[in-house]
Amino acid sequence: MGGKVANDGAAQRAILSFEGVAKIFPDGTHALEGIRFEVRRGEFVTIVGPSGCGKSTLLRIASNLDTPTSGRVLVDREQIGYIFQDATLLPWRNVMENVELLGELHDIPKDERRRLAVKAIETVGLTGFEKHFPKALSGGMKMRASIARTLTLNPPLFLFDEPFGALDQITRERLNEETIVLFMKEKFAALFITHSIYEAVFLSTRVLVMSPRPGQIVAEIEVPFPYPRAPELRYEPSFADLTGAVSAALRGSFHSGAEAELEGMK
Ligand code: ADP
Ligand code: MG
Repeated sequence: MGGKVANDGAAQRAILSFEGVAKIFPDGTHALEGIRFEVRRGEFVTIVGPSGCGKSTLLRIASNLDTPTSGRVLVDREQIGYIFQDATLLPWRNVMENVELLGELHDIPKDERRRLAVKAIETVGLTGFEKHFPKALSGGMKMRASIARTLTLNPPLFLFDEPFGALDQITRERLNEETIVLFMKEKFAALFITHSIYEAVFLSTRVLVMSPRPGQIVAEIEVPFPYPRAPELRYEPSFADLTGAVSAALRGSFHSGAEAELEGMK
């Protein structure tokens, strides 16, 4: 490989396309305007932007949970795995039963879904915790279980809505590294939403910068570092150059007085 893209045969057709998407809510809130981008196989695309700029709305439209006011989205709904900000585990089910849930909903036979769940639990490093209930897990482990649940269906496209935002910094960095390992191993394409500039650059092949009111993509920054990415990459000058470029694009999209908001995004 040796390139910027982890997955084989990368430059293929788009797996997700936004074609001039706008969203105006019934109360008049203009959430998105002129959103146009593609995610292709082998790509890890991250959208970074401040709270309220329309990131979740964009992801909900990507997954057909919501519809655009104008423009269109091309995607096969069957291809999507969705990872939410909170792990959304069922508290009365243990890890194994939670991870088996999507297989149940898709009527996968019991033996097969157990096999898939065992494999997914192993992939996210939760082997030995199958009988634990969510309340006995740390935040990072809950998120691993949530990712395992989605992995059982082996979706070609993963949508992540700020999945690690509530975790402490060390756990978050570890999960970022694990996400890259998963991306290389499972070969899904990813659209990842975050308000962390560092997370965006560390994970992605490409960063899209969003500005608020209405949400628009104001910059697109290619991230050329090969995978796998070492934790120490975060301290390289070339990494600082790219986080600086993303930060500048975000600042350029703000009026003065919003600096405090940006500080909160570090
Ligand atoms: P983000 O995920 O970037 O924080 P959201 O996509 O959740 O932003 O929200 C974008 C904007 O749209 C915000 O101003 C939010 O208040 C508004 N919004 C979100 N959902 C609705 C809704 N169902 N009705 C009206 N306004 C909404
Ligand atoms: Mg959101």
